Amino acid sequence: MLTAIVGINWGDEGKGRMVDLLSESYDVICRYQGGNNAGHTVVNDKGRFILNLLPSGILREEIVNVMGGGMVIDLEHLCGEIGALETKGVSVTPENLKISHNAFICLPCHKAQDILEEERLGDKKYGSTRRGIAPAYGDKYMKKGLRMGDLLEAWRLKQKLYEMLEWKNLTLRGYNASLADSSEILRWLYEYGARLAPFISDTTVYLADAIRTGKNIMFEAQLGALRDIDYGIYPYTTSSHTLAAFAPIGAGIPAAKIERVIGVIKAYSSCVGEGPFTAELFGEEADALREAGAEYGAATGRPRRVGGFDVPASRYGVQIQGASELALTKLDVLSYMDKIPVCVAYEIEGAKSGGFPTGDKLLRAKPVYEYLPGFKTDISHCRRSQELPEAALDYIRFIENAMECPIKYVSVGPGRDEYLTMN
Ligand code: GDP
Repeated sequence: MLTAIVGINWGDEGKGRMVDLLSESYDVICRYQGGNNAGHTVVNDKGRFILNLLPSGILREEIVNVMGGGMVIDLEHLCGEIGALETKGVSVTPENLKISHNAFICLPCHKAQDILEEERLGDKKYGSTRRGIAPAYGDKYMKKGLRMGDLLEAWRLKQKLYEMLEWKNLTLRGYNASLADSSEILRWLYEYGARLAPFISDTTVYLADAIRTGKNIMFEAQLGALRDIDYGIYPYTTSSHTLAAFAPIGAGIPAAKIERVIGVIKAYSSCVGEGPFTAELFGEEADALREAGAEYGAATGRPRRVGGFDVPASRYGVQIQGASELALTKLDVLSYMDKIPVCVAYEIEGAKSGGFPTGDKLLRAKPVYEYLPGFKTDISHCRRSQELPEAALDYIRFIENAMECPIKYVSVGPGRDEYLTMN
């Protein structure tokens, strides 16, 4: 079985916990895009873990984790993440972690460039996490840079780096910034490269074999549909493909067909960074929701913007992800509400529409809010749908109907067992 778990919204839907939960019946978990610009939070019996780069399956001993060629990897960050897991007793070995030789390296000069550009933009900044992801992907497509496999060929690494920096420094000069120092970066590459070298291989061979021998593979995405570089809210997107359709390519098995796409969808909206966020709530209503949902970035600690469930944006997300089923997360967060705000449509220049607008029309969209009855009960102990109050079931049915996609799982707390399967 090949399954993708993807975000329907802006990210932070709780994909990490769903992968952690469902990974039990999978042999291989594969991350296929992005870098350390977002984080999955997983809470289990070993503690609370924030994973920016490592696939969430790393927390289960028997699972093999693959970091695919579609990723960009900050070596220092990855070494730190592995180290943090090891101190909590999670072992990371070449047997349970395999890094594609095709994955692109996010260098310190990419991070520097990201910061310089955000500062140059000032008020018009994109809200980058400043971790170098956009410059790294940009360079990848300019075909200037290093890949993980280069770390295994140290004699060519130096020459490749010099050639790349010659070009990169043209850009840094334009910012009047200090130039990238090749010997410093080379030291960085040697130090962290030596630690990661045992994990690097041609993962396409491993995955092809895994498919041939009937292994169950789960593809794990970072961020959500609305952040996809091509189909998201451009330019307030990430720099990679967050869609399930990209999973086989980013993972390294382009011909594979994903059979099951689980869309993770949050019971309300949240968004990190800049850009249109039509359903956004403000003031006390927003503060209460942010606090109830602990909406602060896992990678950056930044407070997230919050809003009610956004029907037009989520319908678009479900469609563009090709979700075959949904996992509705964080329903418990709404327990404090007397009435639950839902953005049921957008109003653009006086016309009401349930569709998701393209281009600059989205900038002019205003939310049309309706309120559904609150359930005002602690639901975190519910483990069967029959135990949920009627108002909570009505809310679930409302979303299911609006999305035209079955809700298979509902999570009612961050812990591994705090969820229920709908029947
Ligand atoms: P991801 O990137 O999609 O994995 O999402 P994040 O990890 O950034 O955000 C999800 C956050 O919500 C984490 O802190 C989770 O522990 C928490 N979380 C996930 N599911 C639930 C839930 O059902 N209820 C509550 N209260 N928190 C949840």
